[in-house]
Amino acid sequence: MANTVKYELSEDRMPRQWYNLAADLPEPLAPPLHPGTHQPIGPEALEPLFPMALIAQEVSTERHIEIPEPVRDIYRQWRPTPLYRARRLERFLDTPARIYYKYEGVSPAGSHKPNTAIPQAFYNKEAGITRIVTETGAGQWGSSLALAGAMFGIEVDVYMVKVSFRQKPYRRAMMEAYGARCVASPSEETEIGRKILAEHPDSNGSLGIAISEAVEQAAQRDDTKYALGSVLNHVLLHQTVIGQEAMAQMEMAGDYPDIVVGCTGGGSNFAGIAFPYLGAKLREGRDLYIKACEPAACPTLTRGKYAYDFGDTGGSTPLMKMHTLGSSFMPPGFHAGGLRYHGMAPMISHIKELGLIDAVAYQQLECFKAGVDFARVEGILPAPEATHAVKGAVDEALKCKEAGTAKVILFNLCGHGHFDMQAYTDYFAGKLTDVTYDENELQTALGQLPSVAAE
Ligand SMILES: *Cc1c(COP(=O)(O)O)cnc(C)c1O
Repeated sequence: MANTVKYELSEDRMPRQWYNLAADLPEPLAPPLHPGTHQPIGPEALEPLFPMALIAQEVSTERHIEIPEPVRDIYRQWRPTPLYRARRLERFLDTPARIYYKYEGVSPAGSHKPNTAIPQAFYNKEAGITRIVTETGAGQWGSSLALAGAMFGIEVDVYMVKVSFRQKPYRRAMMEAYGARCVASPSEETEIGRKILAEHPDSNGSLGIAISEAVEQAAQRDDTKYALGSVLNHVLLHQTVIGQEAMAQMEMAGDYPDIVVGCTGGGSNFAGIAFPYLGAKLREGRDLYIKACEPAACPTLTRGKYAYDFGDTGGSTPLMKMHTLGSSFMPPGFHAGGLRYHGMAPMISHIKELGLIDAVAYQQLECFKAGVDFARVEGILPAPEATHAVKGAVDEALKCKEAGTAKVILFNLCGHGHFDMQAYTDYFAGKLTDVTYDENELQTALGQLPSVAAE
């Protein structure tokens, strides 16, 4: 069947524009609210945190947004990323399914995150900003923004969740190699950090705390802005280079997916692979099953509440309507650090509520097993986060085997695991166990959600 939804790539085989799903949504997103007044906020409320160009993208409903040439110049170093047919995995699983994967681990930072770090640094530079402050969990976002800061000559300060700061010295060294400053969070550098340390001197930190620290810093200085590596509309937008390239590459392969799979932490790499396909589905009615894979220990989409909540622990960000476990929820420690966030992108949450995507939660042991099987046949060692997508795709391929149907499966392999070898070491030593969150803590955190009349 002819594919009428074409993404024309330019001569360098990269998209010229990002794709904005907001243009094709059957119902608009719920607006962000002011953290104090609970009234919808206008774009200007975000100005202390982000440059206007990014705020414009955050609220845009234009279908296509031009990718600036200086951004494409840097993308070109590793884009288009390869799309592979996983023939050896198909044989290993003995499935009639045809499995494809898009590999984002070829970026200099080893994941999809530079797709947004580069444009974010570019727009900050254009606005005359000289310093960007951010948070990082496992360190992938921090190293991607550090890379982008180096490319555009912008100072980068990263608040890194303390437990990762200790466990992942190589990620920190990578940020420092790119010239960024990396601080363990909670720190003595911010009011919220000092407050948390006073109450919990041994705090391991969390993404929510690190975000509060970074936001506090950014709001204080005119030359400084904040950057977020996931969740927000403009971040998801930047990641759509993944899916647009995949559409063109799948067409070269003469296939169109029946199933699209990605892992979800804040939702950005999943959006990257899925949104261009979802847009085609919404505009043309093409049948497509889209599956988000999340960790059972931090099951935002499958167990969270769809409600207004803060993006951080300190309660200083605007309220966003999203699937959330509660901004005070502390997920247990597990190895896919990039998936340990209490909330989910409002856009992903919205399309989940509309029934346009499905979500499944997996335990870490079954994900590592899938990741190791994958490495042994395909040769690429997935990041712990990415093993959730591998597991999701393998399950679909096994369903095809059972039913004797030859479906086409596409998944996003969002990063390699070369900085996560301790996790694999633990897995091989039999030290990894499945962890569960505390149901009482979840209920307590959900009970503390801000009550918002607009709901
Ligand atoms: C950050 C990260 C994630 C989680 O973030 P999303 O916004 O959900 O994509 C997943 N995988 C890798 C490799 C990451 O670096």
